Amino acid sequence: MDFNDEVAQAAWRAEVRSFLAQARPPTQADSSGEEVTWRNNPRMREWRRQLGERGWIAPAWPKEYGGAGLGVMEQFIMNEELAEAGVVSPYDTGVNLIGPTLIVHGSTEQRREHLARILEGEVIWCQGFSEPGAGSDLASLQARAVRDGDDFVINGQKIWTSHAHESDWIFMLARTDPDAPKHRGISMFLVDMKTPGVSVRPLVNMANRHGFNETFFEDVRVPSRNVVGEVNRGWYISTTTLDFERSAVGSAVSQRKTVEACLHRLRERTQAGGTGVSAALRGELADRWIEASVARLLSSRVASLQARGLVPNYEASIVKVYSSELGQRIAQTTMKVMGIHGLSWAGDGSGIGGYAVASYLGNVGSTIAGGTGEIQRNIIATRGLGLPRA
Ligand SMILES: Cc1cc2nc3c(=O)[nH]c(=O)nc-3n(C[C@H](O)[C@H](O)[C@H](O)COP(=O)(O)OP(=O)(O)OC[C@H]3O[C@@H](n4cnc5c(N)ncnc54)[C@H](O)[C@@H]3O)c2cc1C
Repeated sequence: MDFNDEVAQAAWRAEVRSFLAQARPPTQADSSGEEVTWRNNPRMREWRRQLGERGWIAPAWPKEYGGAGLGVMEQFIMNEELAEAGVVSPYDTGVNLIGPTLIVHGSTEQRREHLARILEGEVIWCQGFSEPGAGSDLASLQARAVRDGDDFVINGQKIWTSHAHESDWIFMLARTDPDAPKHRGISMFLVDMKTPGVSVRPLVNMANRHGFNETFFEDVRVPSRNVVGEVNRGWYISTTTLDFERSAVGSAVSQRKTVEACLHRLRERTQAGGTGVSAALRGELADRWIEASVARLLSSRVASLQARGLVPNYEASIVKVYSSELGQRIAQTTMKVMGIHGLSWAGDGSGIGGYAVASYLGNVGSTIAGGTGEIQRNIIATRGLGLPRA
């Protein structure tokens, strides 16, 4: 297998790289550990405008909906170059999840109402799937939506809703037929967060970040035109959404760059006459370097399957397990490299100062979000290895 770019891919990579050099978008190192978003950062807004001019806000969307209609390998290369430049990800839940879902399953009216506003950055979306009693076993969800004339009335609770506190709209799942088998009585709704009866309560994580929330629905009236696809078919539509979530290949490049930043820091320290690097830490860094290279190969495999029109299944689960666990190992190694400085939240421009502690604490959630490591291993065992279900 040849992992080098083909001629056209190399030209595309050069085009993206030169655009990034000229656009100078905000990088993770600029952010001093704070989360940079379209709404809180003028440089991000300017960069979004520049991306928008090229149709690159949603590179995977078809051109007729304002995307760039790029192929899988072009997107893969673009993501690699964004990571290589250390850029804050320009893609949000609207671009990654609900936009593509509406392109596949939405009504003409829903596409007209929502897609352009997602591209313009006017509207921020969040995903209301998980509930206190329904995460891995999502089909057990209990939120209820009851038909009343031309509306549905929704009652229930969602949890771990990332960015709900700053979102304008939520796409959520609710049970519309409690008597049907559990996968067959669920519908997907588009809900304006300003609708009376929607409330959001913050959940602050152990990194002291307010990223996710509890979201409550009390007699929330939603017009039936806001159901995505057919009533009671929401489970099947949500699997499309989850496929988009899981096939978004994690960035092996940024993991390799973190290992490189660690090596750079150790070299500087040694040159400045500081303490040498222990054999154990050397071995650990070598392992992380090899693992980051393996992560890239695994990601390339998923991208090449998609490029051939195949739907990655257990292959995407392998990437999810490997990358999320590697992220945790790299964060642990980084903390050893940083020593006492690893405890500081202040950025130091090196790319790892401030980042180290945020990454060490923040990465704990990566083996849970988007399907836990155990669930991915179940998929690998049954669909990949053909083992019987327990
Ligand atoms: C950072 C972060 C962001 C998130 N953002 C969102 C969001 O925006 N919107 C949203 O809807 N949700 C979000 N989630 C929720 C996420 O999807 C769930 O946490 C996840 O699906 C796991 O569900 P749970 O927390 O209910 O754990 P549970 O499903 O209760 O699992 C508990 C433990 O049991 C294990 N387990 C469960 N079932 C099995 C099984 N069959 N075999 C083996 N082990 C099993 C799990 O692996 C886990 O270790 C987010 C989570 C995180 C961490």
